[in-house]
Amino acid sequence: MHESHIGRNLEQGIATLRREDPELFDLLEQEHLRQGETLSLVASSGGTDASVMAVVGSSIVNVTAEGYPGRRYHAGCHYVDRAEELAIARAKKVFGARYVNVQPHCASFANHTVMQAVLKPGDTILGMALDQGGHLTHGSPVNLSGRLFDVHAYGLDEKGLIDYGELRALALEHRPRLIVCGTTSYTRVIDFERIRAVADEVGAYVLADVTHIAGLIAAGLHPSPIDAAHFTTTCTFKQLYGPRGGLIMMGRDADRLGDDDSRTLSQRIRSAVFPMMQGSPEVHTIAAKARAMDRLLQPGFGELAQRIRDNADALAASLARRGYDVIGGGTDNHIVLFRVPPHLNGVVAERALESCHILVNKNKIPGDTRGATVASGVRLGSNTVALRHMGPEQMERCVELIDTVLTHVRTLPEGDAQVPDDVRAQVVAAIRDLCRDFPLPYATATETL
Ligand SMILES: *Cc1c(COP(=O)(O)O)cnc(C)c1O
Repeated sequence: MHESHIGRNLEQGIATLRREDPELFDLLEQEHLRQGETLSLVASSGGTDASVMAVVGSSIVNVTAEGYPGRRYHAGCHYVDRAEELAIARAKKVFGARYVNVQPHCASFANHTVMQAVLKPGDTILGMALDQGGHLTHGSPVNLSGRLFDVHAYGLDEKGLIDYGELRALALEHRPRLIVCGTTSYTRVIDFERIRAVADEVGAYVLADVTHIAGLIAAGLHPSPIDAAHFTTTCTFKQLYGPRGGLIMMGRDADRLGDDDSRTLSQRIRSAVFPMMQGSPEVHTIAAKARAMDRLLQPGFGELAQRIRDNADALAASLARRGYDVIGGGTDNHIVLFRVPPHLNGVVAERALESCHILVNKNKIPGDTRGATVASGVRLGSNTVALRHMGPEQMERCVELIDTVLTHVRTLPEGDAQVPDDVRAQVVAAIRDLCRDFPLPYATATETL
């Protein structure tokens, strides 16, 4: 199997790690097993193929390559240049983009970079409020974006839908230079065209941070923001199942001139990534992005994306059948948000489920009277169960197990959760069976070792 130089290197690396650093080796081994045997319904989880991990672990990591392909500050960049060009070409194809920058270290950096490319400190921006589903980097006071800019925030209406009327009213009142959209917990379709129309009315740029729904967009299961927004950002892990990293993409506005000098918007992004925000790119991650993009271009990805959707619908329907209040009545993407029963709160539900090897996260729901660290809702996502080839039938089983845990959990003082031992043992065993029947593509059943 390892009749290759990089393969031999990986194998020797693992052998050395095991011999010289058993403590760290054991942590990694345990983490690998944990992923295999727990059920991740965390909406931001994904999962990389072993080939993506192999690229991240290859010797390409040793190349320092400040700059861009063909214009590096160092010699010896022939192969990393080609890997970066491959990542760009494939990402353009996946998203139908005219310009892609594959160097951002993560989605947060991608967002900061867009802001640095087109804004000056003190400029006004409009972003979705964090507690309504926005992201920290969309102008939260605890984030650099909130410190540098004059932020106004829009949110959801009483039905839990993006309040486009409020967004427009705030835009007309405050005249932002940038409108940020894209969310972390919204279950409905985002109308990028409508946001662009508001931006055009007030002379603002639009940044669509589609980190959560990038896979559905790539598969054509959610409208694309590439041409509607001036800038589209995403991470490459969550729903793209690639390495940790970010992308900045542009469509029809890529070659448009920015308003205060002669450079195009894509040229401004290019120099904002490097040298303004970042130093040498993570070339191993860029190569892994190329690998992940190739996987997105295969027919199998369309099927995976459809499973993401089908499973999310099945989760929502089966929760509703059991009497749970599903926020918004269902979902258009991979996220399902539901209100926890009255005897619980979000954090107790999260802890109880984790003790039974079901991973979810607590989340605020519209009109929530509890803070974000307690919350009244739970957010589920179907990316990882879809990767395991689970289908609607297994979602029914998952909800049955979730319901069993939430019905039996008792809240202890300090907000700890206690699930009776017999119930816990029964659910843990059921989850283990389910996970073994539907293994992650990279972590098959332990007994095969
Ligand atoms: C997860 C997320 C991010 C942060 O991504 P990183 O790559 O971890 O920085 C940014 N925006 C949104 C909408 C997200 O959901």
